[in-house]
Amino acid sequence: MGFSGFQVIKEALLGQKGWAPMWRDPEPKAEYDIVIIGGGGHGLATAFYLAKEHGLTNIAVLEKGYLGGGNVGRNTTIVRANYMLPGNSEFYSHSLKLWEGMEQELNYNVMHSQRGLINLFHSDGQRDAFVRRGNAMINQGDDAVLLDTDSVRDLLPYLDFENVRFPIYGGLLHPRGGTARHDAVAWGYARGADQRGVDLIQNCEVTSIDVTAGRVTGVQTTRGAIRAKKVAMVTAGRSGRVAAMAGIRLPIESHILQAFVTEGLKPCIDHVISFGMGHFYISQSDKGGLVFGGDLDFYASYAARGNLPMKEHVMEAAMTLMPMIGKARVLRSWGGIMDMTPDGSPIIDKTGIEGLYLDCGWCYGGFKAVPGSGFSFAHLIATDRHHEPAAKFRLDRFKTGVGLMDEESTGSQHNLH
Ligand SMILES: Cc1cc2nc3c(=O)[nH]c(=O)nc-3n(C[C@H](O)[C@H](O)[C@H](O)COP(=O)(O)OP(=O)(O)OC[C@H]3O[C@@H](n4cnc5c(N)ncnc54)[C@H](O)[C@@H]3O)c2cc1C
Repeated sequence: MGFSGFQVIKEALLGQKGWAPMWRDPEPKAEYDIVIIGGGGHGLATAFYLAKEHGLTNIAVLEKGYLGGGNVGRNTTIVRANYMLPGNSEFYSHSLKLWEGMEQELNYNVMHSQRGLINLFHSDGQRDAFVRRGNAMINQGDDAVLLDTDSVRDLLPYLDFENVRFPIYGGLLHPRGGTARHDAVAWGYARGADQRGVDLIQNCEVTSIDVTAGRVTGVQTTRGAIRAKKVAMVTAGRSGRVAAMAGIRLPIESHILQAFVTEGLKPCIDHVISFGMGHFYISQSDKGGLVFGGDLDFYASYAARGNLPMKEHVMEAAMTLMPMIGKARVLRSWGGIMDMTPDGSPIIDKTGIEGLYLDCGWCYGGFKAVPGSGFSFAHLIATDRHHEPAAKFRLDRFKTGVGLMDEESTGSQHNLH
């Protein structure tokens, strides 16, 4: 089904009864050229770009639950390209450009809103670090503007500028940063892949990966065996467990990240804001809810719910930065499982098993990476060559120590990235 202004008006007048399902619900075939494990943002985007850019359509995406039910539908929807280190900066820059053309490419409204992202700083040292980051972003071809206290006050008058512990010295504005509707991104890629002939198979959990003589031959699933020439693992918070099915031990720890949303309010926060002295970031959704989050829960877990001390920490940070938020009622909170690498940067690579590919380690920043990751991973699967913007996301960097991209300079402790 195509979308057009005419169609939307027609359906509004006719009670929204004429919309067809956005993708088919096919039975799995016995064999595909490519099987993608994981129907999250990255898996669906990979399938879409394999079909669109490489003409490969004999593909199945196998999803153990429903499409978009994982982290792609659980995040705080921030989209940005404000990375500093070579490797990350060119990749996220490429990804942001794909975001900017996504709605046209998919003919789907993903509500991408480039409302500007402001990283606040609260000390001279922090300002120096952000100046450096801003220059790196500009050198990469992205946008960055350094704001002093008064400029921040003009844009965000409701912040507590007089806080004695955390005075606001200024901010680094990334005007092209913003948010998008997370579910719509999954749905848009799903629809685009389905339209090109990809089979999207839900309620189909991969339980093992078949490998014969060093080559992948297929997967076993809860809906039967499926043979495949190539298998791609894109399972985010379950990366370690899925790779273990092929005997691969990944340098990944899985940690919970929580998020929160308040009741709907009139528009009051126009930007995405990130507090520099506590882990806290916030934006306002188009429905009016204030969407915010903080740091990881600091223990490894596969439970998609969080602990109370982190909730307390996030609320304290919120009250410190913008006391007005104390009047809003929190509607709900939730958690998602992050696949944390030791350097906080992702992996897009082949494995030691022929025909088996890996895309994981997106930590808490993989939503903004969805188009870039899908594009680069599709390139790798189709051509067996790395796509240039993602060429540094190699798995063996954790073995050799060469080429690590420790964006936060926190060393090799997974939960500190
Ligand atoms: C609270 C929170 C806030 C976040 N905020 C941001 C943000 O603001 N900006 C940002 O860029 N990123 C953010 N992220 C991170 C981002 O959401 C993730 O990095 C990204 O969504 C992960 O990729 P994905 O979409 O493919 O994952 P998922 O949607 O989790 O997809 C993986 C899929 O694999 C499926 N799967 C797993 N095992 C199997 C199996 N054995 N067989 C079949 N299927 C399987 C799962 O069911 C799942 O649907 C946030 C995450 C959370 C939880």
